[in-house]
Amino acid sequence: MQGENPVSREWERRWAELKEEISHCLRCPLSQTRTNAVPGEGSRGAVVFFVGEAPGEKEDLAGRPFVGPAGRYFDRLLPLAGLIREEVFVTGLVKCRPPQNRNPRAAEIRACSEYLCRQLELIAPRLVVPLGNFALKEFVGKKFSITQVHGQPLDKDGLRYFPLFHPAALFYNEKLRQEMEKDMESLRRYLRSFLSEQPGGKRTHTRPRSLKGDTR
Ligand code: SF4
Repeated sequence: MQGENPVSREWERRWAELKEEISHCLRCPLSQTRTNAVPGEGSRGAVVFFVGEAPGEKEDLAGRPFVGPAGRYFDRLLPLAGLIREEVFVTGLVKCRPPQNRNPRAAEIRACSEYLCRQLELIAPRLVVPLGNFALKEFVGKKFSITQVHGQPLDKDGLRYFPLFHPAALFYNEKLRQEMEKDMESLRRYLRSFLSEQPGGKRTHTRPRSLKGDTR
């Protein structure tokens, strides 16, 4: 089409290719039990990139992230951080539902990590928000625990994170509600300050070393 930006066209091509690969992926045993792979979705220009654990039942049926009860709670939390779903990006460590919602296995996370790395390269967010322990440990290291570092910024290897409880944690512990809401308000303040410090600043997220298989 005349006047179409070739960079944008190339981005769309790579994005479509990645989604297609994920949808037909057979790299790990989760491919045998999924209904649909859930690549993730959101804004191409997202500044904030949320990474949960794995799709649940509703996500598996819809092929979309965070559409179940935890997703609805997530949508209610986002405005506390001054965000809406359409302007962020949301995905998971693994793109296919583990049977009976069991935790994803290390080998499955490893098998799927290349997709996450490619998503980070394409979106190039300024801040990655690991949701819950699984994502936190994958990005910043095994020694970190979400109960210790939630709701505060964390720099690791030149990349910037803001870990939060996974929204589903509320269903196991109602007492977390207040803390989760406070964390979103902290995220709002943090985003305001670091975006105004570096307006239009460099987008730094490419491939976190941990996801490239580095041991820590
Ligand atoms: S979880 Fe990831 S690696 Fe495993 S089959 Fe799904 S897309 Fe492929």
